[in-house]
Amino acid sequence: MMVPDLTNVDPATKFPRAIAAMQNAGFLKSARYTEQQHRANREGAHPFILEFADKTVKRLGMLGIPFFPHCIVRTEEEQRQAVQSGVSWDSPDDGLWPHRFGAVDLIHGVLGWMDKPAIPYAWDVVGHVGKQVAISMGLKIVWGGDFPPRKYDPAHFEMAGWRNWRKNADGTFALNRSDL
Ligand SMILES: [Zn+2]
Repeated sequence: MMVPDLTNVDPATKFPRAIAAMQNAGFLKSARYTEQQHRANREGAHPFILEFADKTVKRLGMLGIPFFPHCIVRTEEEQRQAVQSGVSWDSPDDGLWPHRFGAVDLIHGVLGWMDKPAIPYAWDVVGHVGKQVAISMGLKIVWGGDFPPRKYDPAHFEMAGWRNWRKNADGTFALNRSDL
């Protein structure tokens, strides 16, 4: 994703302007917004990433900003296709990829990835809100907006340390809250 051109933005107004540009009170009340909340595949996701996704969407909604989880779980086949189409870097061959059960992509209900045109600082606001939610949950979350520029992926949030965990045969996780 392209990093927006920030050269002409007054620093004093950058966050209020970004919030105003994302706000859409009417859409928040729409049936489409409600429907968007149920689009992503939640099957097999870690309960903490589901809780994080819902709380971040709710907190953004309280700011008047409509968001929804565009992607939570990708199956192995979906992950393979995502790598082939250039959407993801992570091969599923090792049995692990962030969207197996520990990541979510959150996007705007009307403006999508907010890159056409880019809204300066919009994703910084979203990243900040997500980090606040993670702190409130006592959860270590890594934000894709903090990835190196080549991998900049600000819609993406993942549970830290996902590479180290495995799903148990009975569907429970090797990771518990005490491990975070
Ligand atoms: Zn993602």
